[in-house]
Amino acid sequence: MKYKRVLLKLSGEALQGDKSFGIDGKRLEQYAQEIKKVCDLGIELAIVIGGGNIFRGAQALGTAIDRVQGDYMGMLATVINAMALQSSLEQLGIYTRLMSGIKMEQVCEPFIKRRAVRHLEKGRVVIFGAGIGSPYFTTDSAASLRAIEIEADVVLKGTRVDGVYTADPEKDINAQRFSNISFEEVYQKGLNVMDMTAFTLCKENNLPIVVFDMNKPGNLANIVKGEEVGTLITVD
Ligand code: UDP
Repeated sequence: MKYKRVLLKLSGEALQGDKSFGIDGKRLEQYAQEIKKVCDLGIELAIVIGGGNIFRGAQALGTAIDRVQGDYMGMLATVINAMALQSSLEQLGIYTRLMSGIKMEQVCEPFIKRRAVRHLEKGRVVIFGAGIGSPYFTTDSAASLRAIEIEADVVLKGTRVDGVYTADPEKDINAQRFSNISFEEVYQKGLNVMDMTAFTLCKENNLPIVVFDMNKPGNLANIVKGEEVGTLITVD
């Protein structure tokens, strides 16, 4: 296997499938199946999931909800998604633990680094909910930070696009995909991979990122096996 311990970042939006809001049961089941393929390879897997299908802090703008409150609402949304994902994984017989950046003792454990690592060593999939637990961050930042804390080998950013392109492939038909690119080139070309806080955190800690299409069956497991899937971003 190319990687031993990986952190998978899934956006909340992806969970909504074809719906305009919330969680699509079919998509949830599909993701659980993809994750199971990785577990079956004996890989240690941690997951950070977003909340954009339910609430984003930015939606508070221009309403009576202030920014910080909106961000906390967004973090709670990620816990809802994390709970859904946890159930769908358990349905497939996978052992899981949900750890949250905001204390919620009736539904999950608080995030404690050593405990998270121990769960991984025991073969449990660890889902990190509530992002970092602080406003003004995103779940991409949470993915980078948690990956560094647990000493993951790579961040796998599952999206609906199959990598990093010279331009937005959904808008520009001439856009070309990179199979490899350096952090520096991403900065220089002004490409959009993650928000800058999350991206810089990975760069400064020499943590590679793979951007890939999570909706293509087998992709996730193939990356872990070492196949060239999506775009690999590295320091050099
Ligand atoms: N959020 C936050 N701090 C964090 C993680 C998330 O404040 O550490 C809030 C923020 O408002 C964000 C929302 O939670 O908009 C949902 O997360 P995100 O937008 O990253 O979800 P995704 O786009 O991946 O679905």
